[in-house]
Amino acid sequence: MDGTQLCRELRNRGANEPYVYIVMVTAKEKKADLLKAMEAGADDYLVKPLNSVELKARLLAGRRIVDLHEQLLLAGEFLRFAATHDPLTGLWNRGEIVSFLRRELVRADREQRPLGIVLVDADHFKKVNDSFGHIAGDAVLKEIGKRLQSGVRVYDGVGRYGGEEFLLVLPGCDLKATVHRADSLRSLVSGSPIAAASKEVKVTISLGVTVAASSELTLDETLQRADGALYEAKAKGRNRVEAVSKTTGARNIAAPTRKTTKRRKVVGTPQPPQG
Ligand code: GH3
Ligand code: MG
Ligand code: MG
Repeated sequence: MDGTQLCRELRNRGANEPYVYIVMVTAKEKKADLLKAMEAGADDYLVKPLNSVELKARLLAGRRIVDLHEQLLLAGEFLRFAATHDPLTGLWNRGEIVSFLRRELVRADREQRPLGIVLVDADHFKKVNDSFGHIAGDAVLKEIGKRLQSGVRVYDGVGRYGGEEFLLVLPGCDLKATVHRADSLRSLVSGSPIAAASKEVKVTISLGVTVAASSELTLDETLQRADGALYEAKAKGRNRVEAVSKTTGARNIAAPTRKTTKRRKVVGTPQPPQG
């Protein structure tokens, strides 16, 4: 193929990373050829015989374009990360974990596989802040996120759902498996104190579990069920897992009867964090 064709081929490949900077070198001097080359995707154009100083000057300009392109790609990556991750914990943010859940609900329905959902809330976290300070509280949240992430499989989703709340999405896990894994995560978080502000902070979490295996349930209904189960875990004394079955809506291990369209209000006797 000739140079113009080669340019077109390179551009048609679509792979623009890293950017291929093309300088056409040709014997033709007609203006029409220059336009043809640029239309085909060339960035610059030199006429033979080559003058080495001119070539060097053009390549310097090309280097600048390639460098700028690289910076643009990096900035894009940074923006994509910032838009989808929580800056404190480095986990997916609420928007991203909910998008993941939405996609996995569709997939679970299509493949007729169960999907485990776990809503996690740190117990008495206000007390952690009050006793150790907000910065230590941040460090504790970060470590909780780390422990949750370390306790799931690579294809599970973990995100920060709100202040001291996390949402986990476990593809392929039925209710029993999800409860089992939620309880392991509970142990992982409460099993050893977290170092923060030169102190050892004992912290526990409560977990609400539900499972979705068919399109019967919308995203909001699924989240409401997990939230209801979490409410139950809090009401029953915290540092525990409660679950609600998706199929009947009936209580399974334990499930609230009330509709949780609003955020739950904590009931029960407040207890200090246990370890
Ligand atoms: P419960 O066991 O009922 O969940 O009690 P709680 O104290 O955890 O619940 P509450 O909703 O009353 O308080 C949540 C606390 O979490 C209060 C809020 O300041 C704290 N919190 C939320 N986000 C952050 C954060 O990013 N950093 C820190 N340090 N604290 C946070
Ligand atoms: Mg909360
Ligand atoms: Mg809490």
